[in-house]
Amino acid sequence: MSDRAGWIDLPPDRMRELGHQVIDLVVDHLTGLRGQPVRTLASADELRHVLDDPVPEQPGDPGALVEFLTREVLPRSLRLGHPGCLAFIPSANNFLGVLGDLLASGFNVSPGAWPVGAGPAAVELVTARWLATLLGLPQDAGGLFTPGGTLANLTALAAARDDRLGSDATGGVLYCSDQTHPAVLRACHVLGLRQEQVRMLPAMSPDVVRQEVRADRRAGLRPFLVLANAGTTGTGAIDPLPALAALCREEQLWLHVDGAHGAAAALTERGRKVLRGLDEADSIVIDPHKWLFQPYEIGCVLVRDPGVLHRAFTIDRFRAHAGYLAISRPAETETNLSDHGVQFTTEARALKLWLSLKGFGVAAFRAAIDRGLDHAEHVAAQIADIPELDLVAGPSLGIVCLRYRQGTDDVQAAICREINESGDTLIATTTVDGALALRLCTINPRLTPADLDGVLAAIVHAGRSIGRDSAVDSRPVTLS
Ligand SMILES: *Cc1c(COP(=O)(O)O)cnc(C)c1O
Repeated sequence: MSDRAGWIDLPPDRMRELGHQVIDLVVDHLTGLRGQPVRTLASADELRHVLDDPVPEQPGDPGALVEFLTREVLPRSLRLGHPGCLAFIPSANNFLGVLGDLLASGFNVSPGAWPVGAGPAAVELVTARWLATLLGLPQDAGGLFTPGGTLANLTALAAARDDRLGSDATGGVLYCSDQTHPAVLRACHVLGLRQEQVRMLPAMSPDVVRQEVRADRRAGLRPFLVLANAGTTGTGAIDPLPALAALCREEQLWLHVDGAHGAAAALTERGRKVLRGLDEADSIVIDPHKWLFQPYEIGCVLVRDPGVLHRAFTIDRFRAHAGYLAISRPAETETNLSDHGVQFTTEARALKLWLSLKGFGVAAFRAAIDRGLDHAEHVAAQIADIPELDLVAGPSLGIVCLRYRQGTDDVQAAICREINESGDTLIATTTVDGALALRLCTINPRLTPADLDGVLAAIVHAGRSIGRDSAVDSRPVTLS
């Protein structure tokens, strides 16, 4: 046995060679997206060789394995950064973000405890401060990066619950619209809030919320939070933030804004206008892996009161025997981010955002977000000129919903299916005012107005040919 047995490593030259191979593959992928299909289907049967692969006891050739991943695994997927991807919230990641992730995993630092990862912790703190500033929160606002919007919402809601209800959440009630993202409702469930504590309203009209709050107080319950959406994922709709902020001040409620998709628009002048009131929130969630063009995963929670996360999450709250952690206590002026959220060890996920914000400059991000807003306005303007199409929601925060005028819900679904089968565009359906609509999310800056004109033409073409078909397929639209 060689004296390197039991070491998991490669000779330095081989590492460099493999690294170059991987970077080349990534650059080819990013620059060749347009030439690829937007999505490659794969059944479980087609992935049998991956699924049924036995435990690999013996070594393989890493170069061949990288090839295998890029040939057999990674392409069998939806390409969320493809300009033809208008479904979900597309994610056009940027190369500096990719390099930030590579550095974070290569150096394998963890920003959770200051004495363990001071440099990376400083990058997390400053990057969160930049986001707070960009969204209009005070300079001393607090913030934490999370794997995504789900955990960012969970973190905010846990902090708000503790701040407003103390250790016993019995009778606590929060108010949100029925358009709230399911991930947020699941976060409420994980936090132990029962269904009757999450008051879902058909619309967040401040008068209606006020009535509910007062009725609940009279019934002996403890209203504590209003959860507003700054861009629902379905239609990009924005709850009336200034009026809800006023209500929250009056009724002493916590205002939480889920801006996982939409808050990034506040970097632009147009976005700031429609998101007026966002800066009055007690907490905001923004998902940099959506409209700030970062690779997965990175979400962020921002809080107005910088102490609130610490009070909710510090390990000193729990009677844990953790003497081994004594050496990682921070000094007075330092911060242990693992005391500000659910996770202990974290990857240095802010590095990618720091590197791309500084490398491209925030002005480039403002312009990229503006492009997404332009695209949605362009689609809406085109629809106004096409008699066969009706605009039914938006444009709002880069999302537009439309219907083919002559068609039933089944026809809209059939149009969606036909567009998606083409292979170069992927759109979604959603429900607007009880009827099925086609939904386009136009935030990928690599899109062009000509691409969007092509999509609308394809929708009209599909509508005409399906309209003539008597038997329309009434299955719901799915991706498989
Ligand atoms: C995407 C999204 C979420 C969930 O965030 P993840 O990053 O997917 O965990 C929550 N709320 C809204 C409005 C979203 O768009």
